[in-house]
Amino acid sequence: MTQTHVPPRLQVEGLMRSFGGRQVLDDVSFSIPAGQVTCLLGPSGCGKSTTLRIIAGVDMQDRGRILVDGALVCDTVFRVPPERRAIGLMFQDFALFPHLSVAENVAFGLAGSKAEKRARVSELLDRVHLARHIDSMPHALSGGEQQRVALARALAPRPRILLMDEPFSGLDERLRDDIRDETLALLKEEGTAVLLVTHEPHEAMRMADEILLMRDGRIVQRGAPYNLYNAPVDRKAAAFFSDIN
Ligand code: ADP
Ligand code: MG
Repeated sequence: MTQTHVPPRLQVEGLMRSFGGRQVLDDVSFSIPAGQVTCLLGPSGCGKSTTLRIIAGVDMQDRGRILVDGALVCDTVFRVPPERRAIGLMFQDFALFPHLSVAENVAFGLAGSKAEKRARVSELLDRVHLARHIDSMPHALSGGEQQRVALARALAPRPRILLMDEPFSGLDERLRDDIRDETLALLKEEGTAVLLVTHEPHEAMRMADEILLMRDGRIVQRGAPYNLYNAPVDRKAAAFFSDIN
C-alpha cells in the first residue's frame, strides 16, 4: 500500500533578508501544519514582522523559498502576487474601513453570489457574538468589538493561512486575555492554520500549539509551549520565559 504524503500547510525554507547590509533574517526555516496555531515568539527587532511580510508577499527575501500545501509560492525568481496567495493578514492596527458597515467590512474581499456572501457574513458575526451589530458602523463599537469584526473579516474568505502580527497589542490590558481566549476558540472552530507573531511569552503560552522561538533573525528553538518553558535551549531563552506572569 502506498501512503499519501500530506505536505505541511506552510513551509518556509532558508529565508535570508538584509536591510542596508544588516542581516535581519538568517536562514529562517520552519513548517506549520493545517489546523494549528503556531506562535512566532521573540523580542522586539528579532525579525518576526519581516518574516510575516515575506510570507504575505509584501516584502521579498534575498534567498530561500515558501510553499503552501506543497506548491511553490515564491523563491528568488518566481512570485505569486499577495492577493493570489489565499493568505489572510491581521495586523496590530486592525483598521476597519470607517465608511463601511460591519457587514460590509466582513464581506469585503469575499467572492460569490450576494446570498452566499450574506450567509458567510451572518455565520461569522454570529460566531463573534456581534450579530446585533451587523448594520452598525465601526466607530459605534468598542475596541474589543472592532477587533472581533477584524477577525471575522480576516476569516471570511477562508484563508489557507492566517498571519497575525501582534494582534492584541492595541487593546486594553484588562481585556486581552478574554479576547485571546475568544479568538483562539474561533480559530479552532474554523480550523484555520495560524501563524501568530508576539513578543509576549505569556501570549504564546496561552495560545500556541507550537512555539517557534526567534532571536537575532534565527529560529533557536521550537516545540510545545511547556517544553520550551520547562526545557529552554539556553540561558537567554530561560531568561526570556522567566518573566511570565
Ligand atoms: P520584529 O517584528 O521582530 O520586532 P522586524 O522584523 O520588524 O522585527 O525588524 C527586524 C529588524 O529589521 C529591525 O532591526 C528593523 O529595524 C529592521 N527592518 C525591518 N524592516 C526594515 C526596512 N524596511 N528597512 C530597514 N530596516 C528594516
Ligand atoms: Mg514586529
